[in-house]
Amino acid sequence: MTSTYQTAFGQAQSAWDATSSPGYFNYEPDNGDPMVEVRDGSYSWGAWAQTSWQGCPTGLWAYNEVYIAFNTRTMGGLTSSQKKLVAEHEAGHAYGLDHVSATCSSSSKAVMSQGETKFSCSGTAPWADDVNGVNAKY
Ligand SMILES: [Zn+2]
Repeated sequence: MTSTYQTAFGQAQSAWDATSSPGYFNYEPDNGDPMVEVRDGSYSWGAWAQTSWQGCPTGLWAYNEVYIAFNTRTMGGLTSSQKKLVAEHEAGHAYGLDHVSATCSSSSKAVMSQGETKFSCSGTAPWADDVNGVNAKY
């Protein structure tokens, strides 16, 4: 994994860990059986990133493995803070969160919104809607 995306995901881990959401992220570069496997690469698909999982029938990050892939081809033009927000979004998927529609109003802003709207929201993400979503699941 290149340092740019490792940094972005590391910042996203720290941001989620700073919230009241349960669990925590722990970087283990030599773990042969990680719970969350993060990669980057130049992929033909159009999204900034994809998160997928298997063996997780409840939709919760309860066991087995989540795969996160950052698309260096489509994310290359994003700033470092935008990359961090995309990483926070993918970590939200790792928790089992779905997309929400959101604006930047304080009551609705959410890192789980799709697209660029979240890039212009003030304050530190993940926001209350995101954290409440995780806490409601676990
Ligand atoms: Zn998404």
